[in-house]
Amino acid sequence: MNNLEAYFHQFQQYSAHQGDIFLYQYDGQKSSYTIHLSGIIHGNEVGSLPTLLALIEDLERGLIKFGGRINITLGNPEASRQDKRFIDADLNRLFLKDQPHEHIDTHEGKRARALMPILDQSDLILDLHQTMLPSAMPFYIFPNTPIARAIAEGIGGTKAYIDATPTEDKPTYQCADEYVWRQGKPALTLELGEMGFHQPATDAATESVRNLIALIEMLRAQHALQNPHTMLSLIQSRSKGQLSQYRTVHREPYGEPDRQLAPGFINFQEVTKGEVLSAANTPVIVAPCSGRLLFPKYPSRDEHGQVNETLPKEIFRIIQTV
Ligand SMILES: [Zn+2]
Repeated sequence: MNNLEAYFHQFQQYSAHQGDIFLYQYDGQKSSYTIHLSGIIHGNEVGSLPTLLALIEDLERGLIKFGGRINITLGNPEASRQDKRFIDADLNRLFLKDQPHEHIDTHEGKRARALMPILDQSDLILDLHQTMLPSAMPFYIFPNTPIARAIAEGIGGTKAYIDATPTEDKPTYQCADEYVWRQGKPALTLELGEMGFHQPATDAATESVRNLIALIEMLRAQHALQNPHTMLSLIQSRSKGQLSQYRTVHREPYGEPDRQLAPGFINFQEVTKGEVLSAANTPVIVAPCSGRLLFPKYPSRDEHGQVNETLPKEIFRIIQTV
């Protein structure tokens, strides 16, 4: 955990005037266009920190040419310090102007209310996350718009994209990317693979954030930031190649707590229709269709096999290429 405190200390040194909000601000003074980079909205997904701190160092040393503004926030350092996803409630469900009554006084309810005015300043967000389990590759997952998809293609980090366009007009919970997307702005989330500090996470995060800044700087220099059409065609001309696009075709409700997946499944693992996915001597779970697994869940259990945490809503999803 010393490593973590060193990152927080360094971050606070560069943003001392911001108090405990964990906000770093850069202003290139040639444009008000604001990129928002977000890390550790889930406390134990710390893998973006080396990238964000190295970026801040380079911005402070003048090693990066950028005429616009950059806001960098660390979402939930208190949960990181406890090596938890969250303390009271999942922060990435609470980016709502009208928060559910029961969450208003929670740690995360307050954090979301501190972060939303900063998100309101942004013209674009890139939110960096990690998955609980390993992933065959990093992946983007965010509401689908032509410009957001073109940006993801243009900046790299991975070649996989999962369409997570919300279907409800009045959501009862909302992620940071969705909050920004509802303001009509590009909103990208990049999952950097399994949670924790590791080089592949640093590499994917570094490639995407550095290329994003370079891409927006190119658009600024071409006076394209005010014109969505020019912006889109310029970004597409810089594309690093097609993203493989996936959509969720099945969400398996967790159901009874004695249901268990066989050990060892990871994100993006291929499954075939009819394949048995359950652990031995537990209720049979069969893949209802072919595709790839997403977010397979293994809730922690006590010595009697009883789940000793809040049961997840879903035990797994299946995604397929579009
Ligand atoms: Zn996350």
